[in-house]
Formats: sequence, structure tokens, C-alpha cells
Amino acid sequence: MSRSLTWGLLAPFAPLSLALSGCATPTTNGAQPISETASAASAATTQPEVFDKGMVSAADPRAAQAGAEILRRGGSATDAAIATMLALGVVEPQSSGIGGGGFLMLADEQGNVESWDGRETAPKAATPARFLDGSGQPLPFRTAVVGGRSVGVPGNIALAARIHAEHGRLPWADLFQPAIRLAREGYALSKRGHDSLARSPDTAAHDPQARAIYYGSDGQPSPVGATIRNPALARTLERLAGEGADGFYKGIIARAIAEKVAAETPSDGKLTEPDLAAFTAKKRPEVCARYRVYRICSMGPPSSGATTVLATLIQLEGFDLAALGPGSPVAWHLIAESERLAYADRELFLGDPDFVPVPVEALLDPAYLRRRGALISADRTMAKVSAGLPAPHLARGEGPEEHGTSHFVVVDRQGNTASWTSTIESAFGSGIMVGGFYLNNELTDFSFVPEKDGAIVANRVEGGKRPRSSMAPTLVYGPDGKLLLVVGAAGGATIPVQVIRALIGSLDWKLPVDQALALPVLFAPTDTINVEKGSRLEAMIPALTALGHGSVRAIEMPLKTNAVAVVDGRLVGAGDPRSEGVAVSQ
Ligand code: GLU
Repeated sequence: MSRSLTWGLLAPFAPLSLALSGCATPTTNGAQPISETASAASAATTQPEVFDKGMVSAADPRAAQAGAEILRRGGSATDAAIATMLALGVVEPQSSGIGGGGFLMLADEQGNVESWDGRETAPKAATPARFLDGSGQPLPFRTAVVGGRSVGVPGNIALAARIHAEHGRLPWADLFQPAIRLAREGYALSKRGHDSLARSPDTAAHDPQARAIYYGSDGQPSPVGATIRNPALARTLERLAGEGADGFYKGIIARAIAEKVAAETPSDGKLTEPDLAAFTAKKRPEVCARYRVYRICSMGPPSSGATTVLATLIQLEGFDLAALGPGSPVAWHLIAESERLAYADRELFLGDPDFVPVPVEALLDPAYLRRRGALISADRTMAKVSAGLPAPHLARGEGPEEHGTSHFVVVDRQGNTASWTSTIESAFGSGIMVGGFYLNNELTDFSFVPEKDGAIVANRVEGGKRPRSSMAPTLVYGPDGKLLLVVGAAGGATIPVQVIRALIGSLDWKLPVDQALALPVLFAPTDTINVEKGSRLEAMIPALTALGHGSVRAIEMPLKTNAVAVVDGRLVGAGDPRSEGVAVSQ
């Protein structure tokens, strides 16, 4: 595996150029991280760690168990991650599956990181006007979501096949068995699954095939606990188990996808069989950077995950977050200010790097982030935030996003790691079902408006392009190079801030992983500060307002984070307490 794109610029253990009061400096053997969570692990030997058991953390216990079963049978982290992805598509169809795509970070036990892109792709014939109405105005979001216009070529099966070819240990067909079993024998509908069916009937019940699976003859969603069987999906999975990725991108399934999507696409730019046959999963340059004494790697373009997470953190290096702690409104104010800066850059610069130049290195250049961080003050609010000038102005980006995703983590007993965010974009994707699975609406992650202030928007629709994502599968290493934390989230544009909150909670506030995931979320992509409704941040609204934030509001946010941490050489996993997610040991 190659060295990271940005890590190469940041010599490991080089002295930090910012004064970090209260921040532990690496000792001469470079093995003293701030985190208590990490201390014992990093004080251990320099040999690769061997965990006595592997672990899977996923948003649904049945999917986590599917991954754990594969680990028990001798599968690699990659094998288990594929089985988890397939099982999630059965038991959590609202969020992800083979009709969608995703991003994945893989690492071996030495911390060599690979970054994988299975992002859905626009049909070749798509144009920048795809989401505009006849008078050039952006379509209402739900109008754009439901039906064929929003469907990109799904990427998850191609991604699974690529990583299995490189890192699989068990036969491909074995990885499908837990998901086939769940689809054929059935599983109990969870409360969250039921609530999703009730909340999103425009997509969930759009397709008669889906109504027959998830709804009763009275048109109501099946009750909590009802056994859901999906024989069509079982047959699809059996075909893919036997035929590999070609069984999806060519032949009968590809034809069915193209025909059904085209029939529901009201304009030009229809998805075709050649679009499916042309899809490739891509290995992307890893994006890693140093935050205090930690090496953090996350997903680069076409996802904005890595740059947003890393910029927000690194801009805060001059502040002693550890001393402030999670109960301090000033700490959350600083996080909000840093998010505002990072999201402004995200809006302007992020898009598919195969179509627009994305200045990743410049955006994460320590000197640039120091300049950006110097704009933040502990006792007042920046009046106006705009994108910076990390490099000559290259592109503009702007876009709406919604939720409907799943993140899962696998660490095997050798310390190989998979961190995969898998999505069909919003709940039940486009609503179109083929072979028992929902097709994504990922193309609504493109900016609907192709031009702004006379400049081309980086994330506008183009044929064969991948929409900008927020997904941020993330890996954290201590100063000794050992794995400390694997984390990621679902929740559209809130994904980076959920990950940031988990990282600050673990690395600065030294919380155990379950408590780090339970921390409230603050989402400040613009001048409006959104705090999680019902959380302790709501009580801080007066304090945040007193610091100068003009608009602070408490809102419900679609939050779902999954993580595994290494503590004393053992794996400790957690699911978000707001979800049904769990961690399951091998
Ligand atoms: N489609 C979104 C993205 O790629 C994720 C949606 C979600 O997490 O709910 O950023």
C-alpha cells in the first residue's frame, strides 16, 4: 500500500508548530498519546498487535452478527465487512444495500491504509440541468428523489468484488450466505425499520414489489416484530454469489435496472446497460493528516469527509480542548467556529476529482489551517465566514444533502481493519426496487444549481461523474503507529461533525468509545448553529448566544455512528445509543 497523500507532508512525530497547552508531547520513544483509552495500547511492544478476538460494529445486530460469523469462519476484516454490507441491505433496507454505493477505508495491522471509492455514478448522458425544471429553477427535493432521475449506477457490488480480490480470505460465495439466510428465512422488523416505513411512504411504498414485502394488505407498514421475508433479494444474492460482480453489472439484473430506471426517468439522460457495464470501483489516494499526536485517515474526494473532519480538528489545535472539557460552552463554540470554516471550504472546493481539480493538499496544509484557525477566538463569534484561499481559486461547490446510510466497522484478530460507509442516500433511496433491493437516489447529492454567481459549481451534474459525498470512514493511529479508533457515521452532511465529535470525545476528552458516541452533536455548516434537540447542548444555547452566535437552534438530527476502539490491546466497540446499532465480538 502506498503512503498517504498528505501524511507524506507531515513527518510523523515532527514537533507541532502550534503551542498546545495541556497537550502531552510525544516522549522520546514517541509513545505517549493524550488519550487514556490509548495509553496502555501504545505503551505495549512495537510488534503488530494480535487481538484475541475480532469485532464488528454495525447499525443492526443481525448485520453485525453476519460479519462476526464470517470472522469466526476465518474470514478477513474485508470478508466480514462485505458480509455485513450485504446483510445490512436485507435488514436495514432504508439505509443501504447493493442498490447503493459507499466508501471504505482498509488498513492492515501495520497501519498501511487504502482508500476505496464505490460511489454511485451519473449516467453518461446526464447533463447539468438534470435537476432543474422547465424554467431553470431547481426541482423540489422530494420531486427529484423519487423515481429514475436520482438513480446512479450502484457501486457496492463492484467495490466488494475489488476488495475481495485483493484482501479476501474466504470464497466470495461464502460471504453471501448470512444475507441469503436473512432474506429467505426472514428477520423480525425492528422498531426503527417500522418507523422508517411509516415515515417515508413516498419511497418505501413507491414500488409494488416493495409494498408486497414490507406492507400488509391494508397498506399499513408491517408491525414491529413481524417476520419480513424477501425471496426476490435471496435469489438476487444467490445469483451474485455464483456469478460475481458481472452478475450485477451485465446480463439480466443490469437489464432490469436499466429498463426500470429509464421507464421512471421523465427526461433525457436515462441510465443504460452500458452505464452499468462501465462502472468501476476506484482506489483513491489516502488522505491522512496529523491532529495533535494522532494520525487520522479518512475518505478523500469525491467525499468531503476527510477534508472537513481533518480541517475542523486541525484548526482547533491551538486551543486546549482537553482542559475545557465537554461541559464547556466555549469548547462547543470553538468547534462550531471551526466547522463553519471547514464547511465553507467544502462548499467551494469539493467535487469529483475526476471532473474538477480538488486541492486536497492545499486544504490540509498545516500553514493554511493555522491561518484559518487564527480566525477563531474563544470569546467572540466570527461575523462572516467564507471559503479560504488554500490555492488559486479552482471551483465552486454547493449542494443539498439528506440522510439514509449505514456505517460499519470490522477489526479482525490480526488487527486488519475495514471502515465502510454504505448508502442509498435517503430513506429507501429512489423508491424503485429491482430484484428485492431499493435503488439509490444518490444523484441528488449533486448540486441542483450548476452555476452560481457566474461560476461553474464544482459539484454540478455531469455524465459519468460521482456526486460529492459527506461520508467519512475514519481510522486513527497513535504516535507509535498503532490503531486506536475506527469510526464513521450516517446522516448526510452531519456525518463529518458526528465523526469530529467522536474524535474530540476520544482523543481530547479521553472518553471511552461508548461515551464519545453518546456526546451530543453540534452542526455548524453556516452561520446558523444547530444543536441536537434534547441534548445538554440545548441548555447551552444562551451561553452560545452570549458568545455572539446570532442563530442557535435545537433540531432533531439523523444521527448514527459506529466505532471500535483499541483499549489495552483489546477491542471495544460501540453503536450509537440513538440507534439500534451494536458491536459484536467474533
Ligand atoms: N448520500 C450522503 C452522502 O454521501 C449520505 C446520506 C446519509 O448519510 O444519510 O454524503
